Amino acid sequence: MKLNYLMPTRILLEEDCLYRNRILLGELGRKALVVTGKNSARVNGSYADAVQALEANGQDHVPFQRVMSNPTDLCVYEAGALARAEGCDFVLAIGGGSPMDAAKAAAVLALNDIPKEEFFGLAFKTALPVAAVPTTAGTGSETTPYSVLVDTTGPDGKTPRREGPVKRSVGSPLLFPRLAFLDPKYSFGLSRDITVHTAMDALSHGIEGMLSIRANHVSDLLARESMALIQGCLDLLCNFPSDPWTLSREVREKLLLASSIAGMVIAQSGTAVPHSMGYLFTLNWGTDHGRANGLLMGSFLKWCRAREAADPSIGPRIPVLCSALGMDLDRFCGIMEQLLGKREKATERELAAWGAMPMKNAANTYIKPGQEEIMAMFQDAVAGGNNLR
Ligand code: NAP
Ligand code: ZN
Repeated sequence: MKLNYLMPTRILLEEDCLYRNRILLGELGRKALVVTGKNSARVNGSYADAVQALEANGQDHVPFQRVMSNPTDLCVYEAGALARAEGCDFVLAIGGGSPMDAAKAAAVLALNDIPKEEFFGLAFKTALPVAAVPTTAGTGSETTPYSVLVDTTGPDGKTPRREGPVKRSVGSPLLFPRLAFLDPKYSFGLSRDITVHTAMDALSHGIEGMLSIRANHVSDLLARESMALIQGCLDLLCNFPSDPWTLSREVREKLLLASSIAGMVIAQSGTAVPHSMGYLFTLNWGTDHGRANGLLMGSFLKWCRAREAADPSIGPRIPVLCSALGMDLDRFCGIMEQLLGKREKATERELAAWGAMPMKNAANTYIKPGQEEIMAMFQDAVAGGNNLR
């Protein structure tokens, strides 16, 4: 057995946790770059709570309220430049995975003058401290050392990338947020689709974490717990109320905690091939990140099951995963279908292009799929193939 476990984020979960624990925020610096999306942080009260906590601490702040879903390289360079120009010495991220990931990259760019061509893949040595307030329950970015971005430009950082936009990530222990403030009240008004899709993301982090070559004893333990928490909410997710506000606090809290715990899983294990494949749906169709994973999950798991059955030398992980999910694979796939509703369909041309692309996380998957197998999963998931049993 080998273990190398790091999780330096302090997690605070309680009602009004930002204000109640503002003293911890006070330790991060004098002036915050407060990074949010365009609207939600002002609507759900998280931005106002943050300002109240900062002001009570006597801390200054400057807002950056322009992060789009799936943030771009251009966006994070802009945020980093603002932090630098304003002399910010820490970053407060509020929102879903997009503002949290943008904030982490801005924290690096505020201190480092990195040419765009070197940004992805550079082992930077400094970053401003980050505190995160997740307002969706899915990405777990508040407990991961990753920032996932859409790279839109060429090496000069200005002209559009010749091959088109691509999702890329930076990862460093420096990107673990110092503090994660989990207050479920910000997610009370989340729509059915955002709630379900982000829950699918958290679920996929637990599943892919268990099916990663880097899974370890602790990450498996955390994956089981995150899946058990989500499993307890599946009935309500399948029968989502017409008014999102009527979903109980307990359910919102469970989903938020499950998401943070699943973040701790992928912080250790990374993700597996569905994440790389799903990025193509997001880039080409604008599919929500969690839904993209959900569209692929059943096909991926059925392929894993078939490979395990065909080759006894592959340690059987699917039965272990199913016991963690509390159901067999067919039942799980049925629930995913119910949550997904009508599936998107890809054209032959799209499939041919995607099937030929390298999938970075394939090598992190406990059974490494080849190009043809990846194509078969795409076929099954979005070409109406239904050929994996
Ligand atoms: P998101 O892109 O952050 O947000 C999706 C939508 O939800 C936005 O329109 C946002 O509005 C809205 N929203 C956020 N909080 C809300 C609330 N409390 N009430 C109502 N609306 C709210 O979506 P996400 O799924 O959380 O994040 C996806 C990103 O995270 C992707 O780029 C993905 O690659 C990345 N990701 C990162 C990691 C990691 O480890 N770093 C892991 C998984 C995924 P506003 O724009 O107005 O805020
Ligand atoms: Zn994800």
